[in-house]
Amino acid sequence: MSATPPLLQSLIANRWIGSQAGRSLHSAVNGRTVALTHADEIDFGESLHYARAQALPALLKLDFQQRAALLKTLAAYLMERKESLYAVSAHTGATRADSWIDIEGGIGTLFAYASIGRRELPSSNVFHEGPATPLGKEGQFMGTHILAPKRGVAVHINAFNFPIWGMLEKFAPSFLAGMPCIVKPATATSFAAEAAVRLIHASGLLPAGSLQLIVGSSGDLLDRLEETDVVTFTGSADTAAQLRVTRNLVQRSVPFNAEADSLNCAILAPDVLPGDPEFDLFVREVFREMTTKAGQKCTAIRRAIVPRQHLEAVAGALRERLAKLKVGDPSIEGVRMGPLASKAQQIDVAERVARLSVGNQVAFGAADGFAPVGEDVIEGAFFSPTLLVCADAFANSVVHDVEAFGPVSTLMPYGDLDEALALAAKGRGSLVASVVTKTPAIAAEAVYQAAAFHGRVHVLDRASAKESTGHGSPLPQLKHGGPGRAGGGEELGGLRAVKHYLQRCAVQGSPTMLSAITGEYQRGAQVQEDVVHPFRKHFEDIQIGDSLLTHRRTVSEADIVNFGGVSGDYFYMHFDAVAAKDTQFGQRIAHGYFVLSAAAGLFVSPAPGPVLANYGLDTLRFVNPVAIGDTIQARLTCKRRIDRGNRPDQPPQGVVAWDVQVMNQRGELVASYDILTLVAKKAA
Ligand code: NDP
Repeated sequence: MSATPPLLQSLIANRWIGSQAGRSLHSAVNGRTVALTHADEIDFGESLHYARAQALPALLKLDFQQRAALLKTLAAYLMERKESLYAVSAHTGATRADSWIDIEGGIGTLFAYASIGRRELPSSNVFHEGPATPLGKEGQFMGTHILAPKRGVAVHINAFNFPIWGMLEKFAPSFLAGMPCIVKPATATSFAAEAAVRLIHASGLLPAGSLQLIVGSSGDLLDRLEETDVVTFTGSADTAAQLRVTRNLVQRSVPFNAEADSLNCAILAPDVLPGDPEFDLFVREVFREMTTKAGQKCTAIRRAIVPRQHLEAVAGALRERLAKLKVGDPSIEGVRMGPLASKAQQIDVAERVARLSVGNQVAFGAADGFAPVGEDVIEGAFFSPTLLVCADAFANSVVHDVEAFGPVSTLMPYGDLDEALALAAKGRGSLVASVVTKTPAIAAEAVYQAAAFHGRVHVLDRASAKESTGHGSPLPQLKHGGPGRAGGGEELGGLRAVKHYLQRCAVQGSPTMLSAITGEYQRGAQVQEDVVHPFRKHFEDIQIGDSLLTHRRTVSEADIVNFGGVSGDYFYMHFDAVAAKDTQFGQRIAHGYFVLSAAAGLFVSPAPGPVLANYGLDTLRFVNPVAIGDTIQARLTCKRRIDRGNRPDQPPQGVVAWDVQVMNQRGELVASYDILTLVAKKAA
C-alpha cells in the first residue's frame, strides 16, 4: 500500500461513501497503518430502500439459472484478478496458504454455488419442493410446497478471520435465492473485504445494489429490518447472544442464523497405537489446525482428546513439530505461520491462555524459544503456538469453556471411548469434531453419539487421508454450523443454504392449478395434445403439459423369451411357470425392464430431431405386474423444462423432464417414472 494509507469506503446504494478519516487499521505483521476507516455516517434507511426498491426487482427479473450463470462469470472474473487480493490479504498476517483459503476458497465457493444452481434449480423463481400429495379421493385436490424468494434483504455480519471467504460463502446462496445483501465485515480486516467488493462492483456483472458494503459500524441497521429480511452472523458467541435478541428482530421474527465460536475437538480413538498411520494423522491434523491462519479458525481443534496411555507420545510428537515451525513475517521464505490479525487479538489470546493455564501444564509455549523472524516484528501481533495439557478434563471445566482464538490447543487424556465422548460433549456444541480410528465399529459408535453435539464429524483413517479435505475446512457441499455453543446455525450445505433465503409455502389446489403455480406438471392436470409429436418440437416450443397418449401393445410370451435372450435375464419370475405360480403374482410376468423398453418403443419418434439425448430416469417404480396377454399403453407429458441459457461449448439446448405413465388394459398404472432429455433450441 502507498505511504498515505487509503481511506476505505462503504458501498451504499451503489455509491462509494467515505471522505473523512476514521479509525486506523494496522498491519498484523509490523503494526503499520494500512488503511483508515471512514468516519462519515451511513444512512441505513437509504441503504435498505435502495436494496428493496432497486436491487430486489432487478434480481427478480433474473431467474435461478440466470443468477447461477452470473455467479460463475463473477467467479471467473475474480479468479483472474486474485493477485490484487493476495497483496491486500498479506496485511492480515496471512501466509500465502492462509490467504488461499480466504481468496481462492471464497471464489471456489462462488463456482460451487453456480454449479449447484445450474444442476438443481429451475429456470424460474419458484422452487418446487415436491412431490405433491393427493388430498382427495378423486385426484383433484392436492397439496405441495414451494420455495419462493423472500422479497427481503440479507444482512451478513462477519468475523475478522476470513474477510473474503466469509463474505462470499454467504453472498453466493443469498444471491442465488434473489436477495440483495448488505455485508458488514469485521472492522479489523475490512480492508480485504473492501478490496473484494471493489472488484465485484467494478466488474459491472451484478444488478446494482446486489451487494452493499459497510465499513465500520452497522448503526441502526438491525432496528430497521422487516419481516422478510434475514440476518446471518459469524463471530463470537457473546456478540451472537447480544444481537440475536435485538428487540426489532425478535418482534418481527427476522431469522437470525449464528455461526459462533466453539471448542472443537479431535479424538484419537483407543484402537490407534503409536506407529499406526492414524497416530501420525492425528498429530498432523492437530498441528495443522493449531498453525493454519495462526489458529484463527472457527473450526480449529481446541481440544485434543487422547488415550491416557498415549498422552506422552502425542505431546512429544506435537512438541517436535511445533519446535520446527518457522513463525514470522509471511513474506519471508519458509515462514509457515504468521501473526494474529491484530494487537487486540494478541492481548485477547494472551489473556485467555492465562486463564486456560490455571491448573494445567504448558507442554509447549513462548518459553520454548519463540522468536518470530522479520523486520519490525516486535510491532506485529505474533503469538507463540501453545500446547497445554489438562490432566483431568472432567474436573477442570475451563478447557471446555474458554476459546483462545489463536494457535492454542489443549491435550486431555481419557480412559475409554465413553469417557472420550463425554469430554467431547462438554464443549456444549461445536462446529466439527474429528474421530481418528482404524475400526469401523468404533467410528459408528463414536459418530452416533457425537452427532448430537457437533455440526460435522470428520472421520480420519489411512484410507481417507490422502483425499481428506481436513478437519477444519467447511465445504460448500456440506452443512457448516453446529448446535449449542456453535450458534445453532446452518450455512453452506449446497441447496440447504439457498433454501435459507427462500420462503417455504404450502400450496393446496387442483392439479391444474398446482401445475401452473409450481411450473411442473402434476398428474391429473389438464394436458395439451397436438398433432405434432412432442419429440419433434424444439425446446422453445415445448410447453409444460404437452402430452402424447401412445398406441397400445399386447405383451406376448415371445416378448418375454426374446427379452430374456437379449438381456441374459432368465429370472424364475419370467421363465419358470412352476416357481412363478407360488409367488404373489401367481403366474409368469414380464421383466420390468422390458416394460420400460417397450414403453420407449411406444413413445419415441425415431427419426432424427431436436431431442439430443436421454440422460437418465428418475423416480422409477414398477407399480403393478404385466402378465402375458396384458396390453400396455404409455402417456408421455412434459413435466419440467429448464433453460440453462446458451453455453459456448455446446449446441444451444435445454433440459426437459417428461412424466411417463405406463398403464394396462384396465387403466391401472404399471410403471411410473420421469425421463430426462436434452432438447435442441431453434437457434443460437
Ligand atoms: P466478534 O463477535 O467480536 O465480531 C463479529 C462481527 O460482529 C464483526 O463484524 C463485528 O464488527 C460485529 N459486531 C460486534 N458487535 C456488534 C454490534 N453490536 N452490532 C453489530 N455488529 C457487531 O467476533 P470476531 O470478529 O472477534 O471473531 C472472532 C470470533 O468469531 C471467534 O470467537 C470465532 O470462534 C468466531 N468465528 C466463528 C466462525 C464460524 O463460522 N462459526 C468463523 C469465524 C470466527 P466489528 O469488527 O466492527 O466490531
